[in-house]
Amino acid sequence: LASRDSRPQNTIINVKGCSIGNGGLVVIAGPCAVEEEKMTFELARCLKRMGVHILRGGVFKPRTSPYSFQGLGWRGLEILFEAGKSAGLPVITEVTKARDVEKVSRYADILQVGSRNMQNFGLLAEVGRANCPVMLKRGLSATLEEWLLAAEYIMLAGNVQVILCERGIRTFEPHTRNTFDINAIPALKQLTHLPVLADPSHGTGRRELVESVALAAVAAGADGFMVEVHPEPAKALSDGRQSLTPDAMALLIERARKVHNVL
Ligand code: PEP
Ligand code: MN
Repeated sequence: LASRDSRPQNTIINVKGCSIGNGGLVVIAGPCAVEEEKMTFELARCLKRMGVHILRGGVFKPRTSPYSFQGLGWRGLEILFEAGKSAGLPVITEVTKARDVEKVSRYADILQVGSRNMQNFGLLAEVGRANCPVMLKRGLSATLEEWLLAAEYIMLAGNVQVILCERGIRTFEPHTRNTFDINAIPALKQLTHLPVLADPSHGTGRRELVESVALAAVAAGADGFMVEVHPEPAKALSDGRQSLTPDAMALLIERARKVHNVL
């Protein structure tokens, strides 16, 4: 179902007036995790003004350490939903459990399945029954074939509105948190008709590398990118090291548009 052979024309996913996969450049941005209410509302409005299309924010955080901030849960989801509504932005958030899918899809415009759950087949089948687009992130060490077969699980359950997001894979290189696989972008565009996004934040783990990798992904043919932004990265409750300030994000959008325009 996901393969280019089965469907030569690109799949286009529409969320509240924003089209993903139609040749345009889609920008998703927001905090790694939803934190305080006022900050989320202000950041959402600021991102909207600079041209961001979709607001991101994690509320169920799959943290490596059980002692790290785990997200605000349902309260966070309400904050994200209201912040998106007030700024006029659709929202995306990660769902980590099959039993939460139905409720999360009442608030979110796109359901995110995270790296750690790429092969959680029960969760894939459940988001496959949801009436909501799904962004499936690449597993920590998944091959392109394993990733596309995970997308196949969602589509086979009935939901063909799937977006793929390259977020880096684990390699022997410890300098960066993950190794962003730029090859995956053009390879997927050939293998599948599904939209392909890039996440240079988790793909590098380092703020100073995010812009270059985002621009490279656009040049490689990505349909857009998702970047973590925080008004005060040093104080972020998660992933501050890879979060851009709003000013840096605005600059990135400007440069990304230029790269996209020369394609
Ligand atoms: C995220 O985007 O919030 C996230 C946790 O990313 P990943 O699943 O790619 O680690
Ligand atoms: Mn994060």
